[in-house]
Amino acid sequence: MDMKIDIMTLFPDTVGDVLWESILGRAQERGYIRIETHQIRDYTTNKQRQVDDYPYGGGRGCVMQAQPLYDCWRHICEEAGERLHTIYMSPCGKVFTQEDAKRLKNDYKRFIIVCGHYEGVDERFIDACVDEEISIGDFVLTGGEIPAMAVADAVCRLIPGVLPDEECYTHESHWDGLLEYPQYSRPEVWEGRRVPEILLSGHHANIEKWRRKQSIIRTRERRPDMYEKLVFETKQDKKLLKEIEEELSDGNDEQQDQ
Ligand code: SAM
Repeated sequence: MDMKIDIMTLFPDTVGDVLWESILGRAQERGYIRIETHQIRDYTTNKQRQVDDYPYGGGRGCVMQAQPLYDCWRHICEEAGERLHTIYMSPCGKVFTQEDAKRLKNDYKRFIIVCGHYEGVDERFIDACVDEEISIGDFVLTGGEIPAMAVADAVCRLIPGVLPDEECYTHESHWDGLLEYPQYSRPEVWEGRRVPEILLSGHHANIEKWRRKQSIIRTRERRPDMYEKLVFETKQDKKLLKEIEEELSDGNDEQQDQ
């Protein structure tokens, strides 16, 4: 097995149901990856199996207590025979990118993801056990399960054997700083809208060129922040950029003439 992810959560069934389906489910059956969920509540020491309590200093809501989190975390590390890299999903963390997915895939064969709930988790657990905090965006969800599933999915699909071949992810948005070109499937005409003629030509080199150009245009239009960082070094890219500039200035001229 090339990757194991242990997810600490109060909702193991929800997480398991999603990650045992479809591509990741098949990859687990075939032994390429393994995603194990751990019920934090199983590590409580009180009769009510309560995992949270009021925050010191007052304020709304409850905070997940350090003890059950720590005991659950320690159990996973002891079973693994090592202190595992540990990620806490948090809106206060660094925002997750494709580069983080690559890094986690390359640097670890096994790691833990902790899902918070309520107002979050006692900071002392984070200080003692967490190596990095990851956010999936500048918004707040009710729990860390959806963020954990997003991270696990993004990492696992990079593991060899999970997708049919490398091109499945190296030709996608964010791999090399570009967004993906538009995709089409059958029929050729749908509701009066035609598939671009070039894609029906069978001319692979021209199709590649068209796709690269669409990727550049799309990134420039939709993500100027990403576009700014791109470095175009090949002759072909420089030619495409020139074409795009010319088309844009022709478009501007036409608009002014109208
Ligand atoms: N009180 C926290 C704050 O203001 O930063 C928010 C807690 S949130 C309601 C409950 C849990 O959901 C968090 O502990 C975290 O695990 C998860 N969560 C919520 N939004 C998230 C995000 N954008 N990225 C990652 N995890 C998130």
